[in-house]
Amino acid sequence: MIKLSKRQDEILRIVKESGPITGQQIAEKLSLSRAALRPDLAILTMAGNLDARPRVGYFFNHNYEVKQQAEIFINQKVADYKAHPIVVDKSTSVYNAIVQLFLEDVGTLYAVDGTGYLAGVISRKDLLRTAIGNQDLQELPCSVIMTRMPNIITITLEETLLEAAKKMITNHIDSLPVVKEINPGNHTYLLVGRITKTTITKAYLEMMEQNLL
Ligand code: ADP
Repeated sequence: MIKLSKRQDEILRIVKESGPITGQQIAEKLSLSRAALRPDLAILTMAGNLDARPRVGYFFNHNYEVKQQAEIFINQKVADYKAHPIVVDKSTSVYNAIVQLFLEDVGTLYAVDGTGYLAGVISRKDLLRTAIGNQDLQELPCSVIMTRMPNIITITLEETLLEAAKKMITNHIDSLPVVKEINPGNHTYLLVGRITKTTITKAYLEMMEQNLL
């Protein structure tokens, strides 16, 4: 994305407010000559910020603005949006995992092994399925019911929210553990956060509110 100069920003503001407007009228508003403005108008028209029609003047290109905002949004990094992961030891009982889910008010728990590395994902449905199965929930460890490595879909800090959204939709899951790869060869990942569908919705809402206020 091209960084605009202060004057180019000013021109965009004027055209947004008063377009269609002629080059001469813009120049008058900025107390500049039409000739001095020509290079800036050419840049803004070529870049797509403005549309120009002969004898009518310059228009603000709203589609271009929307596209730019969408681009900013989808390029946001996971690192800037991740939340704290709620973690249990994989030997924790299913009963305690259910209690933890309510206490922390989350939809998914992550299980770690003795060394603190990511070992599993425990979702609401995993717990419900187990709870209706007539098993002793106090005795049953999470490791038996969780989705295990290497089947866990993960995301890293450097990836984008768009990539996170794609992974969740493609794999029909509600959340992704954010990890640092210690040894990808043998699936050793350090858990550093979580991204959920709510994270994406919140980021979307924030951006929309910023642009509407
Ligand atoms: P819910 O059970 O509330 O519908 P999900 O749709 O996230 O939650 O989970 C559906 C299934 O996918 C569960 O069996 C869960 O263990 C598994 N799962 C959830 N997140 C992941 C993930 N990041 N990687 C692999 N499997 C996952």
